[in-house]
Amino acid sequence: MGQVVRLSAQGNVAVVIIDSPPVNAMSQEMRQGLLDAFNALRSDASAKAVLIHCAGRTFVSGADLREFDTGVGEPGYHQVFGAIENFEKPVIAALHGTAMGAGVEIALASHYRCASPDAKMGLPEITLGIIPGAGGTQRLPRLIGAKAAAEMILNAAPIAAPKAREMGIVDEIIEGELLAGAVAYAERLIANGAKPRPTAARTVDANGFDDAFVKAALQDAAKKWRGQQAPSWVLDAIRVSLQLPVAEGVKREREISLAAEQSLESRALRHLFFAEREVTKIPGLSPEVKAKDIDTVAIVGAGTMGRGIAICCADAGIDVQLIDMSPEAAAKALEAIGKTYDSSVAKGRLNAADKAQRLARIHVGSDIGVVANVALVIEAAFESMDVKKDLFGKFDKLCRRDAILATNTSTLDVDAIAAMTSRPEQVVGLHFFSPANVMRLLEIVRGAKTSPTTLATAVAVGKRLRKVGVVAGVCYGFIGNRMMLEGYVREADQLLLEGATPEQIDRVMLKFGMAMGPCTMNDMAGNDVALKSREVPGVRDGKPRPYHEVIDTLARMNRLGQKTGSGFYRYESGDRATHHDPATDAVIESLAESLNITRRPISDDEIEVRCIYPLIHRLWISALSGRPDVLRGLFGPRYYPREDRRAARQTWPLLETGGAVGEAREVEREVRGLQTAYSVGGGYQQRLLM
Ligand code: NAD
Repeated sequence: MGQVVRLSAQGNVAVVIIDSPPVNAMSQEMRQGLLDAFNALRSDASAKAVLIHCAGRTFVSGADLREFDTGVGEPGYHQVFGAIENFEKPVIAALHGTAMGAGVEIALASHYRCASPDAKMGLPEITLGIIPGAGGTQRLPRLIGAKAAAEMILNAAPIAAPKAREMGIVDEIIEGELLAGAVAYAERLIANGAKPRPTAARTVDANGFDDAFVKAALQDAAKKWRGQQAPSWVLDAIRVSLQLPVAEGVKREREISLAAEQSLESRALRHLFFAEREVTKIPGLSPEVKAKDIDTVAIVGAGTMGRGIAICCADAGIDVQLIDMSPEAAAKALEAIGKTYDSSVAKGRLNAADKAQRLARIHVGSDIGVVANVALVIEAAFESMDVKKDLFGKFDKLCRRDAILATNTSTLDVDAIAAMTSRPEQVVGLHFFSPANVMRLLEIVRGAKTSPTTLATAVAVGKRLRKVGVVAGVCYGFIGNRMMLEGYVREADQLLLEGATPEQIDRVMLKFGMAMGPCTMNDMAGNDVALKSREVPGVRDGKPRPYHEVIDTLARMNRLGQKTGSGFYRYESGDRATHHDPATDAVIESLAESLNITRRPISDDEIEVRCIYPLIHRLWISALSGRPDVLRGLFGPRYYPREDRRAARQTWPLLETGGAVGEAREVEREVRGLQTAYSVGGGYQQRLLM
């Protein structure tokens, strides 16, 4: 039976115990163990019912993802789940922790299901561009109806056991110790003469699963899973459940599932999934190093970033002191934070009680003295070395001796900032991305003197805030902004001078799959932020003009974007919708004239290639520097929030190419070829390779 599955007898109940730490992921060894266990139980007359139970912190939490690449070993899912479903005695699954994917599918193949009150269950396959492929799309509709099954799979979010009971997925909630309660439940079923109850024998309730529902579901999915095909594959598979018995339906499901697995979309999403895991491994940081406990945080600077960071902390249950030297900015911050929470409530993502609780954790003021009481200070003041040096000098005098001091600087030298304190080992960069409460990337900037404990604490804070923490070294722009400022955004600016419009560039990048185009993004982040970063001595050295001409000119005209009502676009008060602004056209045209650039029509293709290739090229450089995983892991969360991975799908083949050092030359060849492909003015190739 192997080590991951063992049998134990409890009265009339045979207990099949799955024990595969840490999260009981379903592997070939587990399937073999289950098959052997059920074969052995067939001839065990003392067992009147079989209970499937998992040791450790969770029921089966999903499939072993490595089998995507190696292929699913024998026995396959259908063989094992079929053996469970066709077993001659009642089979009961007892769920706890988070049963996901194959975990839910094994429960669906069982005859009865019970769960701890705090158990969760979900079919999140769509997040990896695939469909539940081990009977989930055929059995779930038989339990809860085709419409509810489609909604649950398309939503991907796990549901809590009480809700699952209401829906008809779970039969019994077990209070108290699960194993004892589940055995007692099985004994009751035996006493009541309960028989095997194969899900396959049920008919599917087709009510509500009509053309109108499918159309609306696809429309919703187009927003939630922008650009992905998996939602339509899910609906196809559920339609099959209405037409074929389970034994045949699972074969059709397998075909759809295989096509999904082999799609570029799914390979890209799986690639990102593994890359994001890979970046959490930090070279040179021993797992023995303990992080400090962070229960209170002060954020200094209540502008765009300070507000977002405050929301992140409050959402994670951390008490926050948010201060600004300007009482007016502090008051505005509280109002803006309230509005953000109101919009989450309006969208149904948060209830009013949670909103009140989170808001109550944020204390806004203008007295810097509050930093004295906190475990962590995050500085989010102006991007100016003088301002930051002055603040860190003050923190050093005011803060607890054990407090960690972090800066959210986008570009400045963290070591120079740390040198203003008597504790540079407790200084680190915590570089959030805008909007900080939405973007998942957190660059953790390790200074020359940052201690392992400080680094481990920064990593733990990132995890607690549910960010993907990527450790970077000290250099201008760290990783994300280096890719963006010196590549993507700079090229977009150049394209504006050569003849493109903000609307055209943003439209092309949105279509490509970015969450928003670069001009909208700059207007959201504040055009002054990037300008200030370029005012740092040395940044412009070796960078001939044109160099970020349009954005810097707009910033100097106080057209800072959303916060001043105009930037690349015009904004109406209280609204983030972008409107065309002829004043921007005039700025661009006069700049082009002064720089002797002849404007011409620019094709969408040219925009796509010239904006995306610099990002790829940065990846290539990192591949040569030996840590391609860092950039790959960062590319996803930086540029696309979780549900929006179309761009990842499209760029993935290039990322893969860029990631392998041997093949990186392909990228270089492509880059060099671009100048021939497009009659690009202004030295695109030089800018790219600079
Ligand atoms: P912002 O101009 O919106 O806000 C800065 C706030 O800091 C202002 O309200 C200002 O009154 C306050 N402030 C300035 N000096 C202060 C001091 N000495 N004490 C207390 N408060 C002070 O700026 P922002 O966009 O929030 O950027 C803040 C920091 O975050 C910068 O270092 C920036 O580079 C970095 N950052 C910005 C972004 C972005 O997209 N905006 C992204 C990542 C990092």
